[in-house]
Amino acid sequence: MSPTFVPPEISYESAENHRVVIIGSGPAGYTAALYAARANLSPIVYEGLEPGGQLTTTTDVENYPGYVGGVLGPDMMEDFKAQAVRFGAQVRYGSVTHLDLSERPFRVVIDNETGLVSDTLIVATGASARYLGLENEKRLLGRGVSACATCDGAFFRNMELAIVGGGDTAMEESLFLTRFASKVWLIHRRDQLRASQIMQQRVKDHPKIEIIWNTIVTDVLGVDEVTGVRLRDVNSQSERDLPVGGFFVAIGHTPNTALFRSWLDMDGQGYIKTLPGSTRTNIPGVFACGDAQDHVYRQAVTAAGTGCMAAIDAERFLASGS
Ligand code: NDP
Repeated sequence: MSPTFVPPEISYESAENHRVVIIGSGPAGYTAALYAARANLSPIVYEGLEPGGQLTTTTDVENYPGYVGGVLGPDMMEDFKAQAVRFGAQVRYGSVTHLDLSERPFRVVIDNETGLVSDTLIVATGASARYLGLENEKRLLGRGVSACATCDGAFFRNMELAIVGGGDTAMEESLFLTRFASKVWLIHRRDQLRASQIMQQRVKDHPKIEIIWNTIVTDVLGVDEVTGVRLRDVNSQSERDLPVGGFFVAIGHTPNTALFRSWLDMDGQGYIKTLPGSTRTNIPGVFACGDAQDHVYRQAVTAAGTGCMAAIDAERFLASGS
């Protein structure tokens, strides 16, 4: 069944008093909710499968302006949520499973059973961790394979661990893993890291982290749990096995936009296209913000910025009598 097919038996709660429905609860969704609430639009936020978004799986956030001493990601998202709720945003559990954007008001179905109609929609569904796509990586997921060091690192005390990736996430996660691991092997496919200089330096300076350059992971080893990874040197093509107790994947993200595929214009990677300088999509009344729409900056502060833009765009759209 197409995820956009709206089941005929659903009855719909009127959106008369809720003119904006926001899908997603990261920095973009909650900031959109804050601004829409303060504009008296009584927004409803559907939190989705990961309430609070990706920041709930991170530790210290040191680069969000205003938090001088840094803040824990989950605490920051609680602050975002509380601020939106304070001005009247309704935050609800549940994920949008079906959509009909063919006419306004739009029809939205939550968890296959609850219907809602809304004048405008703000898409703030974010992005999810990407995996290498190896068969044994999938088989051993949760049994030594993880895409979230912050969530799972503490299970791997005094072990040698491997992590793949060369971006800021890989840096942040390898540093986090040093709290538990006896040693962290950072595996990167090139001879240069993509991460910001400050994060690279912290990793390079850390006595517990060793970088394995120009190397890819070709297999994850282990029967019931991870016992190692198979590595291939991309220059010599030689293979070797590295014994580790856990394998962490930190190779970027995929936007959570599959639900909108038949409605909204997207780029080749699935990021929602918005008109230059705005959050407007190809469907009037539907706005997109945060990591679902931004593959360039992908920061909490930029997601919050576009969330604010989406609420202002929605407010102006409604005020114009569209
Ligand atoms: P990035 O896209 O920045 O990096 C992904 C890394 O994974 C790259 O080094 C890439 O290699 C590597 N990679 C991708 N696919 C594969 C593959 N199939 N096999 C092996 N390696 C692979 O993603 P991040 O999640 O690290 O960061 C996303 C954004 O979030 C960035 O803008 C980053 O700056 C930001 N961020 C900021 C943080 C902070 O400021 N505190 C913390 C975390 C993220 P290659 O380099 O060769 O392409």
